[in-house]
Amino acid sequence: MTYVFDPAPQAAVPVAGSDARFPVRRIYCVGRNYEAHAREMGHDPNREPPFFFAKPADALLYVAPGQTAEFPYPAQSQNVHFEMELVAAIGKGGKNIPVERALDHVFGYALGLDMTRRDLQAEAKKLGRPWDTAKGFDHSAPIGPIHSVAQVGQMASGAIWLSVNGEEKQRSDISQMIWPVADTIAFLSTLFELKAGDLIYTGTPEGVGAVNTGDLMKGGVDGIGEFAVRVV
Ligand code: MN
Repeated sequence: MTYVFDPAPQAAVPVAGSDARFPVRRIYCVGRNYEAHAREMGHDPNREPPFFFAKPADALLYVAPGQTAEFPYPAQSQNVHFEMELVAAIGKGGKNIPVERALDHVFGYALGLDMTRRDLQAEAKKLGRPWDTAKGFDHSAPIGPIHSVAQVGQMASGAIWLSVNGEEKQRSDISQMIWPVADTIAFLSTLFELKAGDLIYTGTPEGVGAVNTGDLMKGGVDGIGEFAVRVV
């Protein structure tokens, strides 16, 4: 059996301190997972269970340590926002995973940016349309190397931050998540059977904002370093 054309290459993210790469199956994202960000977007964080959207696996943009990756400013938007996030990488699948066992399914963690066409998202919200064009565009998911739990342990607390051109825009602590990683995995696994290779962007803290061509974003999470992405 042959394919009618060559299949696209497998999306993958390098694993820190290793020659191996983590093959990516799906990218799930959590919406409004920090109280102050939910409020800045005009929502009451206490009233809603977690909700999810997805990006295609080939929307990943790898950001190598010590280098500056280039994020192409997407067409059809005049308001592109950064959302600095912790990414959990699933190493073992399952469905209806109990919260007490959920962290056993995590292979590792990475820095991520959930880049967003905020104008298209606002229009989609207003019209009751899907978010795909706002969230799932090409290069919309910058990601750093995956740090294995074996190397860095579980990530329950630690500063998360982002600056633009040296000016701090976001600063919080991952302990401020409304739905911590274990809860997110447990809930998500009731909606989808998770499989090894899935990534979960776990939501952004307050301070999101727009970037323009030429801007330099630097972001980090304590314990897994920092990365740099320039808008081009
Ligand atoms: Mn997000």
